[in-house]
Amino acid sequence: MTTLRLILGDQLNAQHSWFQEVRPDVTYVLMEVRQETDAVRHHLQKVVAFFAAMRSFAERLRQQGHRVVYLTLDDPQNQQTFPGNLQALLRAHQATRLEWMLPDEWRVDQQLQEFAASLEIETEAVDSEHFFEPRETLATLFRGKKTYLMESFYRKMRQKHQILLDAGKPVGGKWNYDQDNRQRYDGAVPLPEPLHFHRDVSELVQLLHEQGVVTMGHLADHDLMWPTTREQALQALEAFVQERLPFFGTYQDALTEAGPFLFHSLLSFALNVKLLHPREVVEAAVQAWEQRPDVISLAQVEGFVRQILGWREFMRGVYWAQMPEYRSMNFLEHDRPLPAWFWTGDTKMRCLQQAITQSLQHAYAHHIQRLMVTGNFALLAGIDPDAVDAWYLGIYVDALEWVEVTNTRGMSQFADGGLVATKPYVASANYLNRMGDHCTRCPYDPKLKTGPRACPFNALYWDFFDRHRARLQRNPRIGMTYRTWDRMAPEAQQQLLQQASWIRDHLEAL
Ligand code: FAD
Repeated sequence: MTTLRLILGDQLNAQHSWFQEVRPDVTYVLMEVRQETDAVRHHLQKVVAFFAAMRSFAERLRQQGHRVVYLTLDDPQNQQTFPGNLQALLRAHQATRLEWMLPDEWRVDQQLQEFAASLEIETEAVDSEHFFEPRETLATLFRGKKTYLMESFYRKMRQKHQILLDAGKPVGGKWNYDQDNRQRYDGAVPLPEPLHFHRDVSELVQLLHEQGVVTMGHLADHDLMWPTTREQALQALEAFVQERLPFFGTYQDALTEAGPFLFHSLLSFALNVKLLHPREVVEAAVQAWEQRPDVISLAQVEGFVRQILGWREFMRGVYWAQMPEYRSMNFLEHDRPLPAWFWTGDTKMRCLQQAITQSLQHAYAHHIQRLMVTGNFALLAGIDPDAVDAWYLGIYVDALEWVEVTNTRGMSQFADGGLVATKPYVASANYLNRMGDHCTRCPYDPKLKTGPRACPFNALYWDFFDRHRARLQRNPRIGMTYRTWDRMAPEAQQQLLQQASWIRDHLEAL
């Protein structure tokens, strides 16, 4: 009697109850498949990081005495899909039972369910034991409501999981310390160097090359910085709480040329492939604050906890409440292609050039670059959300559909009509100039609204609201913007709209 247990590339959870006991009747299966490498054009570092982490995980299981089958991409037996390989392995092992952990991606979830239904042996999907909450929590909490409110979800999670609570009340008296955070980076605090794990991945790069997997982006010297083992992920967590957490919230929204990582945690890859559990990340941050309240303020730790216990769990809930419809929503009916410079960084707009170049170099950009630089531009320019999604899903090392599509289509592109974001996240050059230092090195002038040197964000901003008036003007959070627009002289409005029209027809030239 043999049981096959499938472990997907983002299910590298060493703490899972599956692995607490070594069972001779169980064989674990991991596989590198073209079905996944070719789903979109991924960043080279992303594919390599996944495969490196999967290989290390398989090795770890073997060392613990577990039976493991690992199919490499170039294995002649590899059928390159999950069902294809499972079918062959079930036969080869004369397996009487198939088990898998619940996938985080709808597409794979469907595929495995359909495959299991076609089998005559016993099958079971078990929980991945990773998130704070099961898939359905958010849908249950907001049943009957038209929108989901992150802030109320987050407060419920704080109470339910007893995090930063004092006798049922939020520690310090407030749920949210955003007011104290979100400053521009002025260089006063030196940026700490992030841990670079220096994994030589030449062999994997060679494999992808030989197999003809098309990727994007760079990987200098085949030297991967991302943590790909549990031990490295724990080191990365420790380094974050010691060195970066003290200023995490303060500079959370800053845009700067001083460095690509600021005080961000860089933990999203390790979290998303489950090398780290969100609870241990939250607990490490809270504990660091308890131990060093003189160095780490409550505002920093609350800001960080909100990202993980709030936003991350919230987005997963939205995903399961709304798929599969969610991935094709296009409320604003945007249909333009992404400019080619999204794949090269070759644009004169300094903030975009920096965010894209950095993304190609590191497979990473921090949240405000994703939301208020690349995302803001794509939304204002009217880019097709399918194209925006494919780009975000490909380029970032942490990009998995459940958290990418909800952030991209929902939070960033307002393509869900306001389910996730209460208003579109758009801003003119004024915001970018206030939060960052790119404008000082940009040939475009953030203060100018029209003319060849005007920052394109300015005209695009007003044009966006004008174009979408019928859809947006009843939103109470946008009323002020329309009142300002309506007070403008008709000639000024015309000039802005003409400028925007020219920009939208010449995106490639910006
Ligand atoms: P930090 O800034 O240090 O934040 C700590 C952790 O909080 C992150 O590691 C992440 O796990 C969590 N977190 C923070 N913000 C969010 C959020 N909005 N949604 C979910 N979790 C959050 N995150 C992904 O993990 N994968 C994606 O594919 C992804 N795509 C995005 C696309 C767009 C358009 C936008 C605006 C955001 C996206 N995010 C995505 C959310 C966020 O930008 C990244 O989680 C974060 O930048 C990762 O870097 P970090 O680990 O240094 O995060």
